[in-house]
Amino acid sequence: MELTDLTISQIHKGFIGKDFSALDLTDAYLKRIEKLNKKIFAFLSVFPNEARLQAKRADETINSTKNFPLLTGIPIAIKDNILIEGQKCTSASKILENYIAPYNATVIEKLSRQGAVFLGKTNLDEFAMGSSTENSAFGPTRNPLDEERVPGGSSGGSAAAVAGELACCALGSDTGGSIRQPASFCGVVGLKPTYGEVSRYGLMATASSLDQIGPFAKNVEDAKIVFKEIVGKDPLDSTSIDYKFIDSDFDIKNLKIGIPKEYFIKGIDKDVEKVIKEAINKIEKAGAKIEEISLPNTEYGLAAYYIIMPSEVSANMARYDGIRFGRTPEIKKESDLFSYYLSSREQGFGEEVRRRIMLGVYTLSAGYYDAYYLKAQKVRTLIREDFNKAFKKVDIILTPVSPTLPFKLGEKIKDPLEMYLSDIFTVSINLAGLPAMSIPAGQVGKLSVGLQIIGKPFDEKTIFNAGQKFQELL
Ligand code: GLN
Repeated sequence: MELTDLTISQIHKGFIGKDFSALDLTDAYLKRIEKLNKKIFAFLSVFPNEARLQAKRADETINSTKNFPLLTGIPIAIKDNILIEGQKCTSASKILENYIAPYNATVIEKLSRQGAVFLGKTNLDEFAMGSSTENSAFGPTRNPLDEERVPGGSSGGSAAAVAGELACCALGSDTGGSIRQPASFCGVVGLKPTYGEVSRYGLMATASSLDQIGPFAKNVEDAKIVFKEIVGKDPLDSTSIDYKFIDSDFDIKNLKIGIPKEYFIKGIDKDVEKVIKEAINKIEKAGAKIEEISLPNTEYGLAAYYIIMPSEVSANMARYDGIRFGRTPEIKKESDLFSYYLSSREQGFGEEVRRRIMLGVYTLSAGYYDAYYLKAQKVRTLIREDFNKAFKKVDIILTPVSPTLPFKLGEKIKDPLEMYLSDIFTVSINLAGLPAMSIPAGQVGKLSVGLQIIGKPFDEKTIFNAGQKFQELL
């Protein structure tokens, strides 16, 4: 067994037993990154010196006390839209190619206090817009399970880092599926927490009413360990909530599960459907009560998301004007400020970001606001009410994460609509602000299929408890 195979609790035991040091572990990961990142391209930047220094500090803690936090000495990868002070933070965009983060995101502060080791920053679709990591300005990440295929997106780098054992765990962000879909494609666990539980101070905003930071891990237990340490009220993020994770007992025989009939539609890949249905059967055999439910407004989820999301994007991207943020060095002095803005943005933003800005400016403009944005917000309320109603009857809802298996690089990149369809099962959860986790449900050849466990707001404990049990069964 390699050090890079170990889970967080196994590592913790290893540290206590002095079987290996935090520096040994960090070096093992750095070696793997050195060997494999050229192919997988999970990391945009790696910090060997800083990581080794943090590992040495973790070793000092480990050697001086018996009671050290579970994340002490744990090597973590961070999506490159989350700020680490003094390091580049690019959001995989040319416009931020040379941007250095002036402060730490709150999640980074929290993990630092636990003694975590930051290995580097991971690749993503530019500004977290996309479902395959092919929209990165610096080149695509490859799926470690099959290098011809995409790892999903937008947090594809973080998912691939964990799946390829280039990091023990990772952080990503999820606006419409960007943690769950790559977790599903790469065969790891990924959680999108309830909106507001994790501070977004120091996360580059994509669509502010939807964005959440969450963990990727090798298994459910590890995801829970990371999640517990990043939640809570933060005075620097007014949308954050005073929340503390409290565990509880669990018996699968008391678990009521809803299966929404609208999620098993025409067009879903037959192999994906088979794996998910078989998983549900096993869960039912283990004693859970399964019932079919209806979420009638599901069919409008994708349309509402692709109006609300770009609308918010168009506002959030306004700050990248080449003056306040995103100075691109190739730009020569322009004759006036406005053309300077225009050429910065034209040269700095990729195609998908420009497409979303245009969509968002259109849906927010006078005359179209009521027809598109306002209507989408009303649909959003209906979708939330669908879930509220369902959760009066059931404890969790199970669905596939993605309608397809991981697709080949280049397969969908020329067809934005086809790409948007990959998000059909994930976006409604963000519109409703709910927590949801992807866990591996089974395989098709060497590819993995993720099962989505959707929970009530602030009820991550049921998601984790159920997820842990399902993990044993599947
Ligand atoms: N794939 C979705 C999109 O392109 C979700 C992105 C995300 O969650 N950041 O908008």
